[in-house]
Amino acid sequence: MPQSPLQSPTVAVIVVAAGSGSRAGEPDSLPKQYRPIGGRPMLAATLDLFLSDPAIAVVVPVIHGDHIDTYRAATVGLHPNAARLHEAVIGGSTRQASVLAGLQALAGDPPDLVLIHDAARPFLKRETVAATIAALAKCPAVLVASPVVDTLKRADAAGAVADTVPRHGLWAAQTPQGFDFAAILAAHRRAATEGRADFTDDAAVAEWAGITVRLVAGPADNVKVTTAQDLASADRKMWMQTFAALADIRVGTGYDVHAFTTGDHVTLCGVKIAHSHALSGHSDADVALHALTDALLGTIGDGDIGQHFPPSDNRWRGADSALFVRDAARRIQARGGQIAHVDISIIAEAPKIGPHREAMRARVAEILGLSIDRVGLKATTNEKLGFVGRREGLAAIATATVRLPLPSDQDITP
Ligand code: MG
Repeated sequence: MPQSPLQSPTVAVIVVAAGSGSRAGEPDSLPKQYRPIGGRPMLAATLDLFLSDPAIAVVVPVIHGDHIDTYRAATVGLHPNAARLHEAVIGGSTRQASVLAGLQALAGDPPDLVLIHDAARPFLKRETVAATIAALAKCPAVLVASPVVDTLKRADAAGAVADTVPRHGLWAAQTPQGFDFAAILAAHRRAATEGRADFTDDAAVAEWAGITVRLVAGPADNVKVTTAQDLASADRKMWMQTFAALADIRVGTGYDVHAFTTGDHVTLCGVKIAHSHALSGHSDADVALHALTDALLGTIGDGDIGQHFPPSDNRWRGADSALFVRDAARRIQARGGQIAHVDISIIAEAPKIGPHREAMRARVAEILGLSIDRVGLKATTNEKLGFVGRREGLAAIATATVRLPLPSDQDITP
């Protein structure tokens, strides 16, 4: 569509993540774009940079054909106010072919502008994205780059310095690289038709096609994560960024009791456990997940499970209690929050929890999208005292720790 001067241009982003990525570790290991940094896959962090940016209309991930399942798992829980996330496009055998595949996927409903970005640069700042888009108002191609500050040496095969390369006027290319969509699509198509498959970035394709590429100064910390050492320092840096951005720490508690009734199993943390009785109650009477739901809601002061899912409402009869937990997690996510940890204690004379503990932890971790080390689960008897001791029912206590953005950054619309 042609760009109207009265309207802001539609901007698409192609995130290139099609590499086999074995440089960062052993050849058989997970490709680097799927390795965790700050507790989530690098690709998810990079996609969220654009999905959360109101200037971006659509984000196209380009992935390797072998990584479809890995991609699906990596992209659970992306930014909820997402710009449209395009279905993943399968890339080609070179970076250039992968970008062309991404461009072709947009060609049916072409944007005005496209930014092409490497998944391995997860520290891109929104200001740099804005500067790239702004620069595209004046020219058809923009390259984010940083001036070379180190003195450059050319070495011979033996590792001796052959000469010193003047660094004056030299820039190190980064991404994003931004383009008039029609211009870069035409250039990429022409390069493919003419058998040119050796370009290592898109600015080089544009240069070859005779398009003037302008430089935008990018920050030096827009680094490309390449080596195992880069990954380790990116992981640490991302955690520190997360902690700094989510500095409002909240702790919530929840408590629930259900009475025993006739039956042959109980459901605790979503795991069916054979028992001489069942638990009575609306939904599946999963006392542990009910306590957990209240603990999560408590962190944001958003009522309790009975308020959001009244027992009188027949919709929740026999329901899987995971849906209550997910709803509470969604409310936290809507405030920009992150669950740091949950901990559940089950108080029962029977059944024995120990044999099921790991399955229960795994299920809670799965429901909340947490790593299992962030899920505590303990059980105790009540020393035969009280209603629990008389085996009339069982109880659960839960605690949740949540990190929220600073109050001024929280979206508190219900
Ligand atoms: Mg309950």
